Amino acid sequence: MRIYKKIIPNEYVLSIKDIDYNNLAKQGIKALFFDLDNTIIPYDINVIPEDIKDFLEELNKEFKVLVISNSRKKRVKFATQNLKSIPYVKFARKPLKFGFKKGLKLLNVKLDEVCIIGDQMMTDILGANRLKAKYAILVHPVKQRSDHIFTRFNRKLEMLFIKKVKRKMPETYEKVLKAYAEK
Ligand SMILES: [Mg+2]
Repeated sequence: MRIYKKIIPNEYVLSIKDIDYNNLAKQGIKALFFDLDNTIIPYDINVIPEDIKDFLEELNKEFKVLVISNSRKKRVKFATQNLKSIPYVKFARKPLKFGFKKGLKLLNVKLDEVCIIGDQMMTDILGANRLKAKYAILVHPVKQRSDHIFTRFNRKLEMLFIKKVKRKMPETYEKVLKAYAEK
């Protein structure tokens, strides 16, 4: 399959608080894999703030929640220190399958029970689709200006692929990516 087809999420939302979690539960989703940087918090915040911590812990009663990040251990461990009941996978190497598989094992769930949530098409969404996870949600970056250099490169790639989706799959573009591309 062409790469541009693999960077298409099931849906796009402005923030993790805008996701329709009831709908996910109805679709049989049991586990939520959240990316950390620019999905939960921007790169320039060190620890997950209280309100987001409460939000994630509330979700963790209905679902099994995991934080899965490409960042190094120090960053991820420090950022998630308040999430007592929520595990993390650090240095996941998304879009590779390695870290996701670790997460599946940690939470003891199957691929068709997982929703992957992240702000980057080239890592989170491409990874979710390569893995064949049940559902993938693209979140608008919390604070794009704090992106690292690799991420900035990935965002340029994203725009190329989005243009291709627009050309080849106009209906899908309208439905899932237009709002993201034009924001
Ligand atoms: Mg991210």
